[in-house]
Formats: sequence, structure tokens, C-alpha cells
Amino acid sequence: MINNILRLVDTHAHLDEVEDLDKAIEEGKQAGLVAIIAVGQDYESNLKTLDIAEKHKNFVYPALGLHPWNLGKMDASKVDLTLRQIEDNIKKTVGIGEIGLDYDKRVIAAADKERQKEAFKAVLELAGRYNKPVSVHARYSWKDSFDMVRESKVKKAVFHWYTGFSSVLRDIIAEGYFISATPAAEYHDEHRRAVKETPLENLLLETDCPVTYGRETKYQARPSDVIRSLKAVAQIKGTAENVVAAKTTENALKFFGLSGQIKVI
Ligand SMILES: [Zn+2]
Repeated sequence: MINNILRLVDTHAHLDEVEDLDKAIEEGKQAGLVAIIAVGQDYESNLKTLDIAEKHKNFVYPALGLHPWNLGKMDASKVDLTLRQIEDNIKKTVGIGEIGLDYDKRVIAAADKERQKEAFKAVLELAGRYNKPVSVHARYSWKDSFDMVRESKVKKAVFHWYTGFSSVLRDIIAEGYFISATPAAEYHDEHRRAVKETPLENLLLETDCPVTYGRETKYQARPSDVIRSLKAVAQIKGTAENVVAAKTTENALKFFGLSGQIKVI
């Protein structure tokens, strides 16, 4: 029997927020996923993410993070505690994320740019020191986020769900960094443009689940919805789905250092 299922990696999933997780993971496996990168956002979310990865070993791989959205709720000692937590668990992780800067005015009202940059710099320093790839949230902060990554010792970075300027995107590609496509690539103009302008060599797939997507019909994403990201990328690029699947999965496994562990034939 010929197995037509495409092997995919969801490179950015908030599994600690997904309802009915065991079922969602099973559905993901049925849909062809070979790995999920589970990203954390703060101390509690990182703890849950480590537990989930432990329970679903060899399928869920953890990245620990410090999200700019969560900074507003954290005092300096909690930030330090989270940085220490990331460092203490660094050997268990395949990357650091979700981290970054968010210049939406509501986010800045809770944690100003300087505070966000200070935290971002500290996690980039950890990622550089331990040679870990980073998953970066760069909403409305594309240039600053890119500059800070480039100025750090980090070698591998993905600017997840990229919707920013083409000028910064060219720099991202020139540096050998990545962007990742979400199911919003089905309909969101800026994201579609970014996907179109990015070579397959610099592209990963993700869901950012459990984010709610859709224009007319809304739905809450699950890891299996990475197929929507795949189909949208294939459509935008006019490239066969199996070609996009093979390349983005190869990229993802290399990016997170999983090529030796997961064989995709
Ligand atoms: Zn996210």
C-alpha cells in the first residue's frame, strides 16, 4: 500500500492551552505530524510545556519562553526566576521560545519597549550561550526584533507568523533565518505576501494553536491544522504539496536539531 500521508512538523504550538490535548495529539499523528514543537510563554506555561513533552516523548519537543504579552504580569523577580528556569532546563529543550517584542499599544502599556527589550536581550543571551534556536514573536517590532537577534550570538532564528515589512524580510532571508507560515496564510494579505517572498529554504510550518483563525467561518486551531498552512503555502507558491511538505519538514528537523532522531522517508 502506498502511504500518501505527508510528514509534517508543527513548529510553534501552545499545547499547554489546547483543550482535550491527548485527542488533539492523536489527531495530529493521524494527520501525518512527526513532531510538534511546544512553546512556553512564562514560568507556569513553561512548567506545563515540560510536563506535556515528558508525557509525549519523541513526539512533543519543548521550547521554553518568555513572551512579551506575559511581561506585564511579571515583576523583576519573576522574570529572573523564569530565566533561571529556562537555563536549568536547557538540556531538555530543542529551542527557546516564544520570545520577542510586541509594539502593539496595549502590550506596550503593560510592559514598555525598554522592559521588553531587556527581557528579550536576556533570553537571546541564553540562547546564544547554549547554542539554541529561537522562535521569535515580532509583531509591529520587525526591525528591532531582527536587529536584536542579529546583534546576539544566536545562529538560528524563526520569525514566526511573519507579517512585517519586505525590507526586513529580505534581511531575515539574507542572514539565513526563517519565517513560519500559519493557517492565516489562507487569507491574510500581509502574511501571504511574506510567504510568497520567502524561498522554501527559509520556510517552516506551524499552527500557533489554539489561536482562532478564519474570516467568515472561525475555528480554533489544533496541531493537525498545520495541513492548512501547508496547503496555503503550496497554493501561494504554485508548488506541489508533497514538495513543500518534504522541504519544510527537512528544514524544521534541521532547525531544531532533530534530523538524527526522526527519520522521514
Ligand atoms: Zn505563539
